[in-house]
Amino acid sequence: MTQAKESPKTVLAMKGVVTRFGDHVVHNGVDLEVRQAEIFAVIGGSGSGKSTLLREMIVLQLPSEGSVKVLGVDLAHISDDAVLALRQRFGVLFQHGGLFGALTVLENIGLPLREHRQMTDPAVDALAAQKLAAVGLDAAVGSQYPSELSGGMLKRAALARALVLEPELLFLDEPTAGLDPQSAEGIDALVLGLRQQSGLTIVMITHDMDLLWQVADRVAVLADGKVQAVGAMAALATMEHPAVQPFFKGPRARAAQAQAETQVAAQSKEPSSKPK
Ligand code: ADP
Ligand code: MG
Repeated sequence: MTQAKESPKTVLAMKGVVTRFGDHVVHNGVDLEVRQAEIFAVIGGSGSGKSTLLREMIVLQLPSEGSVKVLGVDLAHISDDAVLALRQRFGVLFQHGGLFGALTVLENIGLPLREHRQMTDPAVDALAAQKLAAVGLDAAVGSQYPSELSGGMLKRAALARALVLEPELLFLDEPTAGLDPQSAEGIDALVLGLRQQSGLTIVMITHDMDLLWQVADRVAVLADGKVQAVGAMAALATMEHPAVQPFFKGPRARAAQAQAETQVAAQSKEPSSKPK
């Protein structure tokens, strides 16, 4: 649980969200609140509606009922201009990266700047190169094409593009899916590093237990059309709830938990380097 001195700002809120595809009810009253500067995760079984929920958060889809508010903007009846303005305030790392194959990595990262900022080409390239370095990629990668990159490098490049407009809110859809364990660990560290950026709020969808234990402040469990529980991983791990327990059973889940607990024990012996 977060012990905030003053109640933090809510940057994203869903209330009573219902989503139907024909007769199929995917969400049946989803309520959730994401606070400023936290790393918030949504977990749930396959088909529980995580991706659909994300699409509703980033204004790619409207719910059948209920309200969605992002960065103070109510998404119901929002004008096209307001959607464009809002999209510049958040970044999205899509599951499959979504980089343009015909553009170099540096051109991909600079694209949002060319679309939305009045900047000279050298200024765009300089800022894009800065973001490339910030996600841990060598400058030489900038002149490569997406097809030449490994999965981990692709995620990093796509993350650099998602960050280039200095968003207030960052959405990550399965940021470690399909990566080898070492690349996945690199992404864990990168996401953790992002929390140093003051005020940046991160919402992620993942089933990666390591990532959840290592970086998520709070986790919402989506099942049977609703958020069944919300809390820190350590709190969820102790819940008897039938929708929550499956995530903490099995050798992989327990290994991730054991590793997180070992690290917490080690950190508590070091002088405090805890980010605020
Ligand atoms: P998750 O990401 O948790 O695996 P999704 O949000 O992708 O789940 O999908 C939830 C349910 O909604 C699934 O049963 C899926 O088939 C259905 N669904 C998602 N998008 C559509 C769509 N555009 N049309 C019809 N059904 C859809
Ligand atoms: Mg999905």
